[in-house]
Amino acid sequence: MSDPDSRTTSASQSPTSFEDLPLNAQLRAGIREMGYQTPTAIQQSAIPDAVLGRDLIGTAQTGTGKTAAFLLPILERLMSRPRGRIYALVLTPTRELALQAEGFLHQLGRHTGLRGAAVFGGVAMGPQEHALRGGAEIIIATPGRLLDHMQRGNVDFRALEILVLDEADRMLDMGFLPDVRRIHDQLPRTRQTMLFSATMPPEVVRLSRDFLHEPRMVHVAAETVAAVGVSHLAVPAPSTQKTALLCRLLEDETMTSTLVFVRTKRRADRLVRDLRRAGVAAGVIHGNKSQNQRILALEGFRSGNHRVLVATDIAARGIDVEGVSHVVNYDVPHEPEVYVHRVGRTARAQRRGDSITLVAPEEEQDLARVERLLGEKIPRAPMPGWDYTSPPQPPVLVPNPPGVRPDRRPFGRGGQAGRSGDHRRNQRPQRDHSRGGGERRSYRRAQGSRY
Ligand code: AMP
Repeated sequence: MSDPDSRTTSASQSPTSFEDLPLNAQLRAGIREMGYQTPTAIQQSAIPDAVLGRDLIGTAQTGTGKTAAFLLPILERLMSRPRGRIYALVLTPTRELALQAEGFLHQLGRHTGLRGAAVFGGVAMGPQEHALRGGAEIIIATPGRLLDHMQRGNVDFRALEILVLDEADRMLDMGFLPDVRRIHDQLPRTRQTMLFSATMPPEVVRLSRDFLHEPRMVHVAAETVAAVGVSHLAVPAPSTQKTALLCRLLEDETMTSTLVFVRTKRRADRLVRDLRRAGVAAGVIHGNKSQNQRILALEGFRSGNHRVLVATDIAARGIDVEGVSHVVNYDVPHEPEVYVHRVGRTARAQRRGDSITLVAPEEEQDLARVERLLGEKIPRAPMPGWDYTSPPQPPVLVPNPPGVRPDRRPFGRGGQAGRSGDHRRNQRPQRDHSRGGGERRSYRRAQGSRY
């Protein structure tokens, strides 16, 4: 793409204040109430162009403040429109992202009188239909469910002025781009389009060529990940010892709120089961969980009832939990960008957080790719006192920090999992706190996938 307007933004750019951005007083009040003090790099770069109605491509991962970077211009531009028609559509890959963006919209726009609605699968269509038929000016939707509504004639996009594609690379990964194109075919041609994506694979570049007109490029460099306050550490961990090593790590009481990433749903289920057996209060979220199960798992984590949330990458998209203290990469991701997404969950917008990666010898190559992307070497720190030469080790019982109630103590006080197989069989079945109603899953294309 020829790109005379490309800009690269780094976190070290001198901070402007929100007062310097072309946003009205009602929006500034919403921003103040959110507690935002200075605009993030992507907000500084994107907002001035976006409020003028220019098309825009923002390459930025979650954690950079990109959601407000497109919501604020939408709110600014729509302030004076008569209410009751849909003027803006934000397409996101997951319902969590949709809910999160709707939450931000509600808070940032609370003094504007503009209304937003989130539309996603796995829940009843009726209330969404109401919102689509005149109850909201801004729709935030996952593609599959929106198409269902469009096919039923529930939605009128004739007044649409702004389209946002959020996390376009994830939509590609999840197989949503054909739906996105189908939706696009039914939208007015004259409009502003903003596309946000952490990476720009060829399909997303093609999409941007087809959907956008002379876009400005705003790039928040991946290297800024290190600068927003994440510390990175790699702990050597043979694959058969990973769970035991994780339990040892969790003896650290500062790990109050830890997100653990694994590559597949099966591994997620197995890990959460083993953690619970070791007495760790843990929840799990992955692509096979229903909406209710996800909400319960997230609430358990948010409220501190679960100090650990085990997640696959796709399910974790859009998780926005204040104060995640640690991200643990139980598996090293094959794609380095995924690492960046994961660690973006801690140190959300200018806070500090720690990322710990359990790295098996066969994963060293993947970690080297992450290091190349970060532009820094991740220090290796073998677990002190750990016998790396011993045969596979079972997890030991993890003491919970003060104030955290264990899900259960299956092996008796001070017992060790590996020595207590018989006790384990005598336990009552573990109650699954994340179990909810059997609603239809909305990731139709992700169904049957390993994530
Ligand atoms: P996002 O990258 O949009 O997922 O945002 C990541 C987090 O940063 C969210 O918790 C936002 O509420 C927060 N955030 C967004 N903009 C700012 C800002 N200017 N100052 C502080 N926090 C922000």
